[in-house]
Amino acid sequence: MDAGVFIKSFIETEIPQWPCPSCQKGILMLSEKSFHYFETAATKREMNSDYFEAEWTQYVFTGVLSCNICEESVVFSGDGGVEQDYEHDEQHSGSHFYRFFTPRYFYPPVPIIRIPASEKVPDDVTSLLTKSFGVVLV
Ligand SMILES: [Zn+2]
Repeated sequence: MDAGVFIKSFIETEIPQWPCPSCQKGILMLSEKSFHYFETAATKREMNSDYFEAEWTQYVFTGVLSCNICEESVVFSGDGGVEQDYEHDEQHSGSHFYRFFTPRYFYPPVPIIRIPASEKVPDDVTSLLTKSFGVVLV
């Protein structure tokens, strides 16, 4: 399992392929119309001022993911912002802004690593580790 998919930011149209916490086989897909983002209070306060830069924008977001095999529902949330992307090729030279989002929380927790089913791993350790997967520390 590539834990790297968890610490990456994403854009709305390219949600990373997080594994399903229930069947462990499916991939979580974004449920239609479930993704919502909102500006933070600081952004709302500052965004109409003359000196505001788009890249200072901060968001919080929430969404619902659904497993493509067992249809488990997983809520996730986090924060986000705006970055500038520069394009340079022979015909064009310019830039555009895009929103990005970083997941901070999943429920039920998404399996970051596979815990071996073994007598050597006590049940309470497995339970605590599984719960910890819900919080993404980036
Ligand atoms: Zn599933």
